[in-house]
Amino acid sequence: MTNKLPGQQEFSRRSLQDPEGFWSEQAGAIDWHDPFSKVCDFSQPPFTRWFPGGRTNLCHNSVDRHLEQRADQPAIFFISTETGEQRTLTFRDLHHEVQRMAAVFLSLGLVKGDRVVLYLPMIPEAAVAMLACVRLGLVHCVVFAGFSAESLAKRIEDAGARLVITCDAGMRHGKLIPLKQTTDDAVKLIGGEVRTLVIHRGVDPCAPFNSARDVNYAEIADAQVPRDIPCEWLESGEPSFILHTSGTTAQPKGVLRDTGGYTVALAASMQHIFDGRPGETFFSTADIGWAVGHSYGVYGPLIHGMTTVIYEGLPICPDAGIWWKIVEQTRATVMFSSPTGMRILKKHDVEIVHSHDLGSLRHLFIAGEPLDMPTAQWIQHALPGVLVVDHYWQTESGWPILAQTPGLGAVRSRPGSPGLAVYGYDVYIAHEKTGDPVPRGVRGVLAIRLPLPPGCMSTIWQNDELFARHYFTQFPDRLVYSSFDYAMQDEDGFFFIHGRTDDVINVAGHRLGTREIEEALNTHPAVAEAAAVGATDELRGQVVNCFIVLRQSDQYATDAARDALIREVEKGVVTGLGVVARPAFIGIVKQLPKTRSGKIMRRAILAVVDNCDPGDLSTLEDPQSLDSIRNVCATRN
Ligand code: AMP
Repeated sequence: MTNKLPGQQEFSRRSLQDPEGFWSEQAGAIDWHDPFSKVCDFSQPPFTRWFPGGRTNLCHNSVDRHLEQRADQPAIFFISTETGEQRTLTFRDLHHEVQRMAAVFLSLGLVKGDRVVLYLPMIPEAAVAMLACVRLGLVHCVVFAGFSAESLAKRIEDAGARLVITCDAGMRHGKLIPLKQTTDDAVKLIGGEVRTLVIHRGVDPCAPFNSARDVNYAEIADAQVPRDIPCEWLESGEPSFILHTSGTTAQPKGVLRDTGGYTVALAASMQHIFDGRPGETFFSTADIGWAVGHSYGVYGPLIHGMTTVIYEGLPICPDAGIWWKIVEQTRATVMFSSPTGMRILKKHDVEIVHSHDLGSLRHLFIAGEPLDMPTAQWIQHALPGVLVVDHYWQTESGWPILAQTPGLGAVRSRPGSPGLAVYGYDVYIAHEKTGDPVPRGVRGVLAIRLPLPPGCMSTIWQNDELFARHYFTQFPDRLVYSSFDYAMQDEDGFFFIHGRTDDVINVAGHRLGTREIEEALNTHPAVAEAAAVGATDELRGQVVNCFIVLRQSDQYATDAARDALIREVEKGVVTGLGVVARPAFIGIVKQLPKTRSGKIMRRAILAVVDNCDPGDLSTLEDPQSLDSIRNVCATRN
C-alpha cells in the first residue's frame, strides 16, 4: 500500500478553490474551433453552462483530430463470440465509416438538433452511428437492445425522434433477438410515423422489411457520392445526446448531455482517473445502451487516442475466460466492468484467469453497484499486480464522482469504499431531512454542492422544471444536488455507499424504478394493486420481487390457476419493460402494507423480503398486512 494520496487531494482542492483556472486548463486537452468566452456560467442555478461561447465537436475530438498521428492505429477492436466475427477499424476506417453514415443522415433530410434513436447490439455500427450523429449535431438517444417494444416506444416518443436505427437482429447465447421486429412493434405503438434505418448484418435474413417506410443502410450508403462531411461546430452548451434512466416516476427521464463540458470531462478523466495512455487499448464490458458504454465504451477512449473494444457476447461463452482472452489478444491496459460481471466469473475456477497472459493490464475499474467484499477479494486474488478500483457514479454525472485516481498517483484504497471525492465534485454527506453536513462516521445522503462540474447532465430533456425540482429540492433552503444514495464518510474521507434513498432498484448494475415495474404489473386485468421491491441477491446485487393483490381472488383458487396467472403477469412485465426487469418472484397477497395516508410501504415489504429490521413502523395502517407478505415469502424457493 503506497501512500501517494495527497496528489488526488491536492488536485481536488485546486479544482474547488479555483474552478475557472482548473477547468480552463483541462479544456486545453481537447480541440476548440472557437475559444470559449467564459469558463462557467452559473447565473441561473441550478443550471450550469460550461465553456459558453466555445465551439467544438465530439466526433472531431474522438476521430478527426487523431488522423494526423494515428490514422493506422486501431480505433475499434470488434469481437463477437455470437457470430464469430472479428474486425478492426483504424481511425482512418472509422473516419470513413462515420462520414458514410453521416452522408446517409443528410440524404434522409436530418438537420442539426434532430433526434435519432439507436436500438442496436454491440456492433461497431452502433459507435459509428453515435459518432455520425454528434458529427452533424444530431442528438442521439441509445436504447438498450434488451428493452421491450413498449420501452423503446416510450423513448422514441419522449425524444421526438425522426429516425430509428436498428439491425435485423442481435444474438444472445446463440438465440436470435429480433431487433427489427421489436422496432416495428414499437413504431406501430406510436402511430407508425418514424422512419427506420436498417443495418442488415446477415444474422436474420427473414427480418421484416417494409420498403415504404424502412431504409436499407447498405443500399442508401452505396448510393451516396463519396465526399467529406464536415463537423458541425456546436456551441459548448448544445446537446450531444439523451440517455434515459429510471427514477421515481413510471416515465424514464431523458438525461441530457452538453457538448463542450462532456468532452472536456471525459478527456480529463481518461488521464487523471483511468490513467489510460494514447495508443493503448481500453476494454469496457458495458453495453453501449448504458452510461458507461457511452462514456467509456465509445467517447472517452477515442477522445484520448486509445483503441476501444466492442465485445458482443456473454462473459462465460465459449468459457469463463473470454474477457481475459480479449485482454490478452488486444493487450488492454485498462478495463472497466461491473460487480455482477465479476460475480459471474467468480463461480468459475480462477485458473481460467491465470491461464491468460494479462501482463498488459494495469487497472480494473469496477462500478455500477456495490462491490461486495468476497468479490473484491476474489478479483484481487485472480489478478495479482492489477490495481482494482471500485468507483461510484451515475448516469446523471456521466463520469466518476468517487474514485481512486491512479492517473494522479493516488492508489491507497479502503475495502468496501469506492474511494474519495473526485476533483471537480464538492461532495458531502447531508442530513437526510435538513441537508446540513453530518459528522464523519454518521450516515446521511450523498450530496454535491453546486455548480456541478463539466460533463454532468445539463437538464432533463424538455423538462427543465423536473430537473430543478427532482435533483435540487430534497433539502429545504439548500440548493445542492441529491444523489439519492445513502452514504457515510470515514475519518480519512473515504466514502461508503449504503443504497438508494428512493424507489430505484439496481439489478446487475441496471437501474429500474419500482413505479415502472408496478405500472407493468397493473396492466394485467386481474391485478388490483401491486408493489415491487429490490430483494438482496448474491449474484445480481438486487432482484425484483413483486407482490400483487387480485381483483377477484376466488377465480384463482387453485395452485394451477395461480401459477398460470403469475406466469402471465411476469410476461406482462417483460413485454412492458424488457428482460432486464423480469421479476425473480411474484407473490399473490391479500393486501399490501400501507401508511395511514395510503402510500405503499415498500420499506416494510423489503424488510420482510430481506429478513431484516424494518425500522419504525408507526405509520403503518394495518400491521397484519405484513403477515400476508411473510406467508407468501415463505413459499419462495
Ligand atoms: P446508473 O445511473 O444506472 O449508473 O446507477 C447509478 C446508481 O448505481 C448510483 O446512484 C448507486 O446507487 C449505484 N452505484 C453506482 N456505482 C456504485 C458503487 N461503486 N458502489 C455502490 N453503488 C454504486
